[in-house]
This record gives sequence, C-alpha cells and structure tokens, in this order.
Amino acid sequence: MAYDPNNIFAKILRGEIPCNKVYEDTYALAFHDITPQAPVHVLVIPKGAYVSFDDFSGTAPAEAVAGFYRAVQQVAAQLGLQSGGYRVLSNVGPDAHQEVMHYHLHLFAGCDLGRMVKKGLAAGG
Ligand code: 5GP
Repeated sequence: MAYDPNNIFAKILRGEIPCNKVYEDTYALAFHDITPQAPVHVLVIPKGAYVSFDDFSGTAPAEAVAGFYRAVQQVAAQLGLQSGGYRVLSNVGPDAHQEVMHYHLHLFAGCDLGRMVKKGLAAGG
C-alpha cells in the first residue's frame, strides 16, 4: 500500500493538527491517544513515511529502526512504566483493524492489562 501523506499522523507530525505530546527526538514522536483504552495509552510514531510495522521494519534504514525503538524505551522510562510493566502493540492491516496508515506503536500501562488477544481465537480453542 502506498503511503498517504494526508493521514492524520502525518498531519500531527507536520504540526497541522495538535497532539498531547509526551516525547520527541530525531526519530520519533510520542503523544497520548485521543481515545485512551487504558490509564496510560500513548502512541509512538516514526518521523519517516511508513505505512505500518511491516513497511517500517522491512524498509527503513537501520539507524531509523534502532532510533525508533530506543525512543519507545525512552517514552516508557519517562512515564515511569518499567516497574509496573506495560504492553507494546502494533496493528498491521485489516485483520488487526489498523485504522491509521502511518506506522505507530500503542503503549498501554497503568493497570492489569489482561490477556493479549480475545480468548478462543486459536484453532485449538
Ligand atoms: P490503529 O487501529 O490504527 O492501530 O490505532 C489508531 C489509533 O489512533 C486509535 O487508538 C485512535 O484512537 C488514535 N487516533 C486516531 N485519530 C487520532 C488523533 O487525531 N489524535 C490522536 N492523539 N489519536 C488518534
């Protein structure tokens, strides 16, 4: 899928629409999700134009990939999440219900987050 420069996160990166910023460096921007699904729900996005985890991990320069994942760890540290723990999640494509076509990681924390996915999805039940 081609990258659409008019997606909502591209507009946030360009400063065309506001966000509640948590962290920013050369490689990444982190901000609170507009519809939080946990006490802490932060989105971390790379500054480059990548559609998804698949696109970013497969095609971005190694420096951008390393810089991005270092930034995710910095966000968790800055928010003091390491002792209680946190979950990092990325939706890729239709089965995962990806809505915004600019790669992002969800960072959830602040409570017991429960199971990873809906129960009963595996072929064995
Ligand atoms: P996805 O389903 O693509 O993994 O998640 C997209 C996320 O982006 C959703 O959790 C949604 O609440 C969030 N989101 C969508 N539009 C905006 C926005 O304009 N600002 C912020 N901060 N989050 C948004």
